[in-house]
Amino acid sequence: MNRFLGKLFIYFEIEALTGLRIGGARDSAEIGGLDNPVIKTVDGKPYIPASSLKGKIRCLLDRKDGVRVARREGDPCGCGQCEVCRLFGAHSDKNKTLTRLCFRDAFLNFEKYRESLKDSKLLDDEIPLTEEKMENIIDRLKGTAQHPRPMERVPAGAVFDGEVVVNFYEGDDVKKLIRKFWEGLRLLVDDYLGGSGTRGYGKVTFRNLAFSWKTRKDYQTKNQAHWFSDIPFSNFEDADHKLDELCEKVSQALYGAGEH
Ligand SMILES: [Zn+2]
Repeated sequence: MNRFLGKLFIYFEIEALTGLRIGGARDSAEIGGLDNPVIKTVDGKPYIPASSLKGKIRCLLDRKDGVRVARREGDPCGCGQCEVCRLFGAHSDKNKTLTRLCFRDAFLNFEKYRESLKDSKLLDDEIPLTEEKMENIIDRLKGTAQHPRPMERVPAGAVFDGEVVVNFYEGDDVKKLIRKFWEGLRLLVDDYLGGSGTRGYGKVTFRNLAFSWKTRKDYQTKNQAHWFSDIPFSNFEDADHKLDELCEKVSQALYGAGEH
C-alpha cells in the first residue's frame, strides 16, 4: 500500500479565446432545437466537464511522449510506469496504478464573463451564454457552400472556474509529476479544447492561477492549506515562470527539506 504524502491544489480560470464547443446530448423533446447543442448544467449554463479537460490533456501528453503500451491503436498508454500513467491512471487492466490527478467540472463564472464583455453595453439578461454558428461543407467543384448546419458554441470571452487536485504517494518524484502535468497545460494552450479545433474553435488560456498544498500532517492537525503565493498569477506565462520554484516547494513540503 502506497502511503499518502499530500495534495497539490491548482486553481485557475479557463478563458475561451475563440468559440468553444463541447458537445452535449440532444434533448429529443425539444422540437426544432439545435442539432448540435453544447453540454450544459441542469439550469442551462454551459460548463466544461472534468472528463473533457482530463481526456484532452492526457491525449496531448500521450501523443507527445509516444504511447508505449496500448490495447488498441489510439488508446491511452497502459504501461503503468510512465509519468502520464502515474498521473492519469494506466489504461490497462493488468498494469493498474493509483490515479493521482483529480479534475473538477469547470463552471461558468458569469461575473468574469460579463467583465470581458463590458464594452458591449449588454444588460445581464441579454448576455448570450451560447451562440449559434452555421458550418458549411464546400462543394469543391462548384466552390459553393452546401449542407449548412447550425452549431452551438460558447462565445469567446466566456470564463470558467477550474480546479485540479494532484495526490502524491510515498516514492513519487513530486517534481517530475508536477512538471509532466504542467507540460499538458502548455500543450493545451497551444492546441484546442472541445470540437472543431481545426476550424478555429476551442482556443483557451488559463488565468488567475493559484496553488496550495496540504501534507499528510496538515490533515492530522489544523487542516490548513499552504499557499504558494498570496496573489494569483494573472496569466499562464507568469505561473509558467514560477514552475521550478513551485516544484521545489511542494517537494520539500511533502518530503521534508533536504530529504528529496
Ligand atoms: Zn504509461
